[in-house]
Amino acid sequence: MDGKNNAAEAARQREYIKKIADLTEGRGLKYLVVTFGCQMNERDSEKIAGSLAEMGYTPAASEEEADILVYNTCTVRDNADKRLYGRLGVCKQYKSRKKDMLIALCGCMMQEEEVIEKLQKSYPYVDVIFGTHNIFRFPELLYMRLEGGSQIVDIWKETEEIVEDLPALRKYPFKTGVNIMYGCNNFCTYCIVPYVRGRERSRDPKEIIREIERAASDGVSEVMLLGQNVNSYAGVAGEDSGLQDLRTEFGLEPGAGVTFPQLLRMIDRIEGIERVRFMTSHPKDLSDDLIRCFAELKHLCRQIHLPVQAGSDRVLKTMNRHYDSAHYMELIDKLRAACPDIAISTDIIVGFPGETEDDFMSTVELVRKVRYDSAFTFIYSVRKGTPAEKMTDQVPEEVKHQRFDRLLDVIHEIQEEKAAADQDALLPVLVEGFSKTDPDVLTGRTDSNKTVDLTVSQKTMDAYGIDRPGELIGRIIPVKIVKAQTFSLYGEAV
Ligand code: SAM
Ligand code: SF4
Repeated sequence: MDGKNNAAEAARQREYIKKIADLTEGRGLKYLVVTFGCQMNERDSEKIAGSLAEMGYTPAASEEEADILVYNTCTVRDNADKRLYGRLGVCKQYKSRKKDMLIALCGCMMQEEEVIEKLQKSYPYVDVIFGTHNIFRFPELLYMRLEGGSQIVDIWKETEEIVEDLPALRKYPFKTGVNIMYGCNNFCTYCIVPYVRGRERSRDPKEIIREIERAASDGVSEVMLLGQNVNSYAGVAGEDSGLQDLRTEFGLEPGAGVTFPQLLRMIDRIEGIERVRFMTSHPKDLSDDLIRCFAELKHLCRQIHLPVQAGSDRVLKTMNRHYDSAHYMELIDKLRAACPDIAISTDIIVGFPGETEDDFMSTVELVRKVRYDSAFTFIYSVRKGTPAEKMTDQVPEEVKHQRFDRLLDVIHEIQEEKAAADQDALLPVLVEGFSKTDPDVLTGRTDSNKTVDLTVSQKTMDAYGIDRPGELIGRIIPVKIVKAQTFSLYGEAV
């Protein structure tokens, strides 16, 4: 489904931003947005921070210092829920010392009815609560609270609308996430995302292109296209498309549908965008056309995150993943044929209900066959309201933990072997900042999304015509890898 863009609503919210800016003027108020969870939430937080900045708030150095503290929550696994309640206990102490401090909660956890009931009953000092579908309404809700309202709760069950053109504040000036679609239709039996993020809505391709063009003109060189399953992107070009050149080149008439590979081809041409990544890709919808993009497109990074979840066909079926391990391996082979040095990462769940030792060993076997560059492994966590919650054959906790550790050992062993291949390589690195552990060392990412810590010699600085290594932040530079370790690469700028 293509989402309906509501420009009038964006204009209405901008009015509330102005009203709050009038209220806060000269008060030196500060904000902090704390994000739990995935890159979608990271991007939503940038939007909340963007509104707060236009309202006149400046960033706070700590939670305690903030005049408004926003927690953008996650509920994919239950430990994320527990973390939030722990933090809210501490917030009560902040508020007892600072009466005017405001606490706002948003994100996936807020879409769960029992969470809202608990917050209303036991956490009356939380000021504003909103969900995933109405994040754009944050300025209006905050204004209502500032105008003397009590706890404001606004949760929508679903929406077809997409509200564009509200402010966003990028965490990095040189790279950004761009939502291309919202929601998920897949209903994997373990997963709560379709219930808290709603059905799939694809953004108008022209809005996506415009957003990326604007980002490029602000100096952004890397974009990460975001969606729960970007492969099922189905955008429709709006009537006032205004993208005449795209129409000519791609036959894109207003009203025409655009697939994800087509969208990638359009983005690849945007001047100033050097790197394009995307996440997440569902194996069931990974088309040959998308695989071709890795061979054809100049700016598409040689990297794909392709969650497999399990190696056992029986488990994949009960997970409702709509592919089997043979199909998954076929995709891996095609990807490597199109782009031999593509870096492949994945998500794996250990201890899904009914997982036997044999099923688990099928996962280990698949991991050994694919030889992932990296893998995010999760212990299955029961999510209320999902079909897997009702499955009777839950795996005992100690078995889950033991399998998790065994799988991690295999993944690390492979990563260690693969890391050695980067020794002495010359890799282009986007310099992102200073290393957290050593202020004399820069840190950045390769095309394949590996982290590299790097030093810059005086000779190299002279060649670049710079006085300090920090001046390289935001640039893509060649780096010679001098030490390749399992989780990190170390190099010298050349
Ligand atoms: N849409 C993405 C996909 O299908 O690949 C994933 C989105 S989800 C936020 C990220 C990962 O969390 C999933 O790939 C899965 O491995 C993990 N996950 C989701 N639900 C889980 C659960 N109930 N327990 C453990 N891990 C879970
Ligand atoms: Fe969850 Fe599956 Fe949708 Fe990913 S594709 S968000 S795992 S339901």
